[in-house]
Amino acid sequence: MKILVQKFGGTSVQTKENRTHVIKQIKRGLDAGNKLVVVVSALGRNPDPYATDTLLKMVDYKEKSIHAKRELDMLMSCGETIASVVLSNELQQNGLNATALTGAQAGLITNDEFTEAKIKKVKPDRIKHELMDHDVVVVAGFQGRTESGDITTIGRGGSDTTAVAFGASLQAESVDIFTDVEGMMTADPRVVDSARIIDVVTYAETSNLAYQGAKVIHPRAVEIAMQAEIPIRIRSTYSDHIGTLITSSRTKEMGVDIPDRLVTGIAHIDEIAQLNIPIKENDIQSQATIFQTMADANISVDFINMSPTKVVYTVSNDVAKKAVQLLEEKGFKVTVVEHCAKVSAVGAGMTGIPGVAAKITTALTKNDVKVLQSADSHTTIWVLVENNQLKLAINALHEAFELNKTSAYI
Ligand code: ADP
Ligand code: MG
Repeated sequence: MKILVQKFGGTSVQTKENRTHVIKQIKRGLDAGNKLVVVVSALGRNPDPYATDTLLKMVDYKEKSIHAKRELDMLMSCGETIASVVLSNELQQNGLNATALTGAQAGLITNDEFTEAKIKKVKPDRIKHELMDHDVVVVAGFQGRTESGDITTIGRGGSDTTAVAFGASLQAESVDIFTDVEGMMTADPRVVDSARIIDVVTYAETSNLAYQGAKVIHPRAVEIAMQAEIPIRIRSTYSDHIGTLITSSRTKEMGVDIPDRLVTGIAHIDEIAQLNIPIKENDIQSQATIFQTMADANISVDFINMSPTKVVYTVSNDVAKKAVQLLEEKGFKVTVVEHCAKVSAVGAGMTGIPGVAAKITTALTKNDVKVLQSADSHTTIWVLVENNQLKLAINALHEAFELNKTSAYI
């Protein structure tokens, strides 16, 4: 039995009109001789009635205790459950032999970290059984259950991960992530008009781009696919374009020897804040206290720069005020720059190539972009800029690395 997994995101299943395109893609998958597992997100976005954030607004828990989170998962999971039934029914109306399953019924088992649960395993027996009797099994994404039967959700973007987890467990031919853009692009097309589709990209580059904010796919999904060596395709619900193939090696897939590209794409994360804390020279204890304070308050820190006289790092903008308050209570003086964005140039071939940093600084300076902080690794260069210069910065880097000019690998 050849199995293909298809995943459709929130906008793809939002309206009946949109779902006609979904049904077309499902028929195409069936015509190619596959049985289909179709993973769906909730219908639409807030304020659509069954979107995740709309459902969340129906309750108000004062404290996010484990009990509250368990109940929130029961509530949130309804969005995907509804979507799975609605789509399955429309497939049936179109003469297709389809059925729907919740994540729990489909055998997605997680730990009990409610609202951010981690997938422990997939028990594929039920899906396999349904695939004997049906051509299409529609599975509610983003949700699973604990061993003891409580409903869980696996965090934002979780339906991508659901799709790949089933793909791996069922040894699918491929996992196709259908969305509202035609593939993984050299930058977010909402920010860069000249962004181009990347034809083929490695798991490593994709996971890196995803972690740095390219939200077209969830990084955890890429990691699972990499381990299971299942190819992923990112493509549009609304077109025939073949999209982006994510695999282990570009060279193998393209059949020719293509050198690693210096920069594959530019990703960004906005709404972060930079904290700058002077310390007494070589006061190592202060450095430790600062990060322990953040850890105790469960605030995640990023972009850390330490020197003998100061500690600089970033936190998410929505916890910035709390972070400052906690540090001031411990006697630190904190300067904060709110509303910043982290821009990352991600590649596979940066190691030891001279001139990359020069290219970045020249491009940003030419466009009057103020760099608040920067760092680099062998695959990534990061710069921190103010949110209002984000578009300028990304476009400058996109142009400097000529990502708009040629197809990404040819
Ligand atoms: P879905 O609901 O289908 O999961 P998402 O909104 O999660 O869709 O992801 C698709 C969006 O990701 C696109 O509309 C696009 O704006 C954004 N995006 C960010 N970075 C990239 C990128 N490098 N390539 C393509 N899309 C990107
Ligand atoms: Mg998504």
